[in-house]
Amino acid sequence: MKLTFHGAAGEVTGSAHILTINGKNILLDCGLFQGKRKEAFEKNRNFLVDPSKIDVMVLSHAHMDHSGNVPTLVKKGFKGKIFCTEATADLCKIMLHDCARIQVHDIEFVNKKRLRQGKNPFEPLYAPEDAERAIQQLVPMPYSKPFKLFDNVEVTFHDAGHILGSAFSEIDFRENGTGAKKLMFTGDIGRRDIPILKDPVLIKDIDYLITESTYGDRRHPPAEDAKGELEKVVDTICDTKGKLIIPAFSVGRTQYIVYMLNKLFTEGRIEPVPVYVDSPLSSAATQIYSKHRECWDSGAVEFLINGKKPFTFDNMHYTESVQESMALNTMPGPMIIISASGMCEAGRILHHLRNNIDDPKNIVLIVGYMAENTLGRRIAERRREVKIFGNYVPVRAKVVEIAALSAHADEFEMLEYFDGCGASHIEHAFCVHGEKNALTNFSQSLLKAGMKNTHIPLPGQIFEF
Ligand SMILES: [Zn+2]
Repeated sequence: MKLTFHGAAGEVTGSAHILTINGKNILLDCGLFQGKRKEAFEKNRNFLVDPSKIDVMVLSHAHMDHSGNVPTLVKKGFKGKIFCTEATADLCKIMLHDCARIQVHDIEFVNKKRLRQGKNPFEPLYAPEDAERAIQQLVPMPYSKPFKLFDNVEVTFHDAGHILGSAFSEIDFRENGTGAKKLMFTGDIGRRDIPILKDPVLIKDIDYLITESTYGDRRHPPAEDAKGELEKVVDTICDTKGKLIIPAFSVGRTQYIVYMLNKLFTEGRIEPVPVYVDSPLSSAATQIYSKHRECWDSGAVEFLINGKKPFTFDNMHYTESVQESMALNTMPGPMIIISASGMCEAGRILHHLRNNIDDPKNIVLIVGYMAENTLGRRIAERRREVKIFGNYVPVRAKVVEIAALSAHADEFEMLEYFDGCGASHIEHAFCVHGEKNALTNFSQSLLKAGMKNTHIPLPGQIFEF
């Protein structure tokens, strides 16, 4: 068995790892690298391995840092099947098209500048037709049912409790002359008791582990606290008649917040302030959340039994057209605007931030992970001014962060999870998908938890067993 680490190795985004068993190359995730424009340009275009040499792909979930570079892989010659859960396939259908549109739009912007400078234009990373080809290669599979990749290699998806459709991949294999082995690839690890989704499923008898480490050095407040904190923030904008701007990933965080607001309104804990989900992608993703009830936990199902819908209520509006979105600029508060992209790198959220971040009666609510060198991170760091659409804007709005809303398990939740799996059985654990401190700390914690060997792989590093 051979492991080659390609992306999210020593860093957070661009998840991609190659597992080679019996000469077959299995790619685990193929995410977009997100960060500085130039670095992202290079990393997303250049694979360490020839894509035509990849035999098959296993995809953990639909977030762009895990699935967003699949169309590039296909464009560069990958022809194999892409196995994922049914909900992940549905989410990828909308998200990859959306990402292709962003790629085309972004490069047009860059090319205008290049042409003025007399330089050759760049091609977009990928186009809608590449995204469509990638979608055609998706093979949806149900949770908990093993399926065969090749002779002696089987995969089973288990609930990861992170976003709709997110899966842990259990890979059971046997190589010439060796006994049966089990590798677990976590993708992103969710949390117990977060709304809507089922809890992460324990996997026993793991020999090799590739684990995310995003919050490998942090402890979140309990998930239940999020509701109380959200209540406080909504109360504040009711007093100031301000706008609550929430940058949120279209998939996961948006539905989580809508569902929590719905509960708070239903329980009469907050005033029925108008709520706008202002992102066509977020609206489309919410429909997919509504469809895939097999992923819901008992709380969400109960909501339905009581004649209510988790993502629809009286003061909830899903805007579609640009005109509807622009109309929000002149409408008076209090109101809540949930928009994408989650890290404020593109999309309608940029307009809402530009229009509202300089007013002290407004609040920008940070509800998710903000990678280094993103606008979201600079806002979360409470910089005095931030650059939006090329101009500096003063940050006068209040910036509030609710860490309890995270969809990633923290260090202690991850350790508790692996303890339940039987940490001492794990021969080799590879910590990926984290910043330096998180990786170092988490790797040491896993050793203390009883795992025999832990590693923090670098891009291009190969391990053979
Ligand atoms: Zn994720």
